[in-house]
Amino acid sequence: MTGTRPPGPSRRPPQPSLRPAWDDAGGAARARDLFASAFGGPPDGVWSAPGRVNVVGEHTDYNGGLCLPIALPHRTYAAVAARPGTRRLRLVSAQEPGPPREVDLDAVGPAGTAGEVPGWAAYVAGVLWALEAEGLAAGLPGLDVAVDSCVPAGAGLSSSAALECAVATAVDDLAGLGLAGPAGAPDDGGRARLAAACVRAENEVAGAPTGGMDQAVALRARPGHALLLDCRDGHVEHVPLDLSAADLELLVIDTRAEHRLVDGQYARRRQVCEAAASVLGVPDLRAVADAVRGGGTTLDEVLPRLADDEQRRRVRHVVTEIERVRELVDVLRAAPGEGLAGPALERARALLDASHESLRADYEVSSPELDLAVAAARRAGAHGARMTGGGFGGSAIALVQAGEAGEVMSAVAAAFSAGGLADPAFLRATASGPAGRAAG
Ligand code: ADP
Ligand code: MG
Repeated sequence: MTGTRPPGPSRRPPQPSLRPAWDDAGGAARARDLFASAFGGPPDGVWSAPGRVNVVGEHTDYNGGLCLPIALPHRTYAAVAARPGTRRLRLVSAQEPGPPREVDLDAVGPAGTAGEVPGWAAYVAGVLWALEAEGLAAGLPGLDVAVDSCVPAGAGLSSSAALECAVATAVDDLAGLGLAGPAGAPDDGGRARLAAACVRAENEVAGAPTGGMDQAVALRARPGHALLLDCRDGHVEHVPLDLSAADLELLVIDTRAEHRLVDGQYARRRQVCEAAASVLGVPDLRAVADAVRGGGTTLDEVLPRLADDEQRRRVRHVVTEIERVRELVDVLRAAPGEGLAGPALERARALLDASHESLRADYEVSSPELDLAVAAARRAGAHGARMTGGGFGGSAIALVQAGEAGEVMSAVAAAFSAGGLADPAFLRATASGPAGRAAG
């Protein structure tokens, strides 16, 4: 199913609006209220973590490549209390109505084994399991957890990592692990280790074979900056991204199209990339991107050595996408703030547009809804637009002139309506802060 519905002759698209981000106090209050109604009494505290949107660098993370995400102002809030002397989790979420989910920590194991945790509880239980499996914690206590979130789930904006990372910082504080560092003085090395545990939670316990981008940005982002993440070694650099100084906005378009075949397709992309690296005799496709950049080889030389057309197209995407990350970072560094205008803005546009084309034609992870959103946004004057996240549905981004977001939103909504598609949703992405304890 694709979220389509028959177009009605009298149907007019409603004036689209932006989905607001909650402020910290409001988000924390929601989680506290839910906690009180589910468990009685107050939690020990509330922790939160952001969703993310990737500016460029898609399907590069599991290839040891580079990506450039930002943390969204939209966050997941987890009100948490330790249950010393127990190993039981009790979990509720405003997004998953029903009685509390109960999980015995000693029974948790990887997906596909007897310890598999069904449903959303896997993202929470998986974090505690992974912290222990990584040797970062031992004998963690049970927890009561109440979750509420304004990160849309399943929209390619990483609500899964937001949930994991909110829980990870809660456990870090409550169990005194000291990995995240005190507020205002984050310990990036410790946060990198928390991120690695959250990746294991998602890969092994939730059974989703994602790369490391989502957890890295949720834990390691800096407000006002994009995160240049080197997925080979986890090295990060913070690239100033002050779009408002340039009179620009980053608009997120959630197509609200259900992901189709996403799990199998994602795993298949990873397998083809690994097979291609092995044919080329390199550890990962990043090595090819580095060799091409360094002038040691060219794509024309590399591609004929691959097994088939599928490998050739996948490799061409990954190698050119890693290069686009480097080029966009160069553009942003050379033209910070109000400098992102004229030729620099044109270059940014070309890179965003080329990324979408590569994902559509070579990597084949776009969808009709994503293509429509991108085309409509460009026609309405966006300075570049592309799908973002894993693809097969989910969200697109458009770089728009401040004050013109409304026109772009109306144009996209009208295109969806004309195509008989469900109404898209919109968010404004401003580079926000990482996971940690919420005030209040
Ligand atoms: P994305 O990360 O792009 O939003 P995923 O499929 O990776 O999409 O993760 C979505 C899943 O994560 C949901 O189906 C649910 O299991 C879990 N999840 C995310 N946010 C919440 C939440 N607030 N409460 C409960 N479960 C959540
Ligand atoms: Mg996810």
